[in-house]
Amino acid sequence: MLGTGILKGLKVTARNFIGSYFDEERLTTVQYPEERLPQKQAARQFPFLVYDGDDPEAGLRCVACQICERECPPQCIYIVKDTVKKPDYMGKMQFQPKIFDIDVSICMSCQICVETCPFDSIKMDTQFELATDDRFEGLILHKEQLAKSNSYYHQIHPEEAAEVDARLAAAKAKAEAKAKAAQEAKAKAAAAAQQTPAKAPAPVAQKDPSNQ
Ligand code: SF4
Ligand code: SF4
Repeated sequence: MLGTGILKGLKVTARNFIGSYFDEERLTTVQYPEERLPQKQAARQFPFLVYDGDDPEAGLRCVACQICERECPPQCIYIVKDTVKKPDYMGKMQFQPKIFDIDVSICMSCQICVETCPFDSIKMDTQFELATDDRFEGLILHKEQLAKSNSYYHQIHPEEAAEVDARLAAAKAKAEAKAKAAQEAKAKAAAAAQQTPAKAPAPVAQKDPSNQ
């Protein structure tokens, strides 16, 4: 019958409206900012940089490859690569960013930087209360503000962070096994070279004195 869908919808609305006076479960709003709804795992606002361990500087996963800077559609990422290499979270010598800024007044939360980062170092934060009366400097987030621990990442996106941890651990184990195999092959080659007897020197031809 024509209009059945509308009537069904109105019935649900009326049930929730009247029910909300008696049953808290039916309330769809909260008294913000005194009350806050828990953030959803899939929520995304602006990017942040993940660091491992306790040191936001040494543990920063970012190696300043600048892929995210190039790929960001509104170009709101600004990176200056450091001039010296430091060990990264896997112990490999890498460059790190000297400057890493994101202008969140331009960022459109598209997550392209996250998807293109080969090092799982940039992720989307759920933090949204960034209002400020400083339109320019106040909305440019620097490396120190962007760096957040892996535990924080686990807190806001537990499933995604666990999946990233497993992937990084597998990559680390693979790299370690490869390095170990290379070291063993080198040691084997050195031992084999030691066991091979040295060749006797070729006899020196004597000059015939009658030819002088
Ligand atoms: S979320 Fe999108 S717009 Fe924001 S910094 Fe990343 S790539 Fe740029
Ligand atoms: S966040 Fe990722 S893509 Fe961007 S510079 Fe750092 S390592 Fe490269």
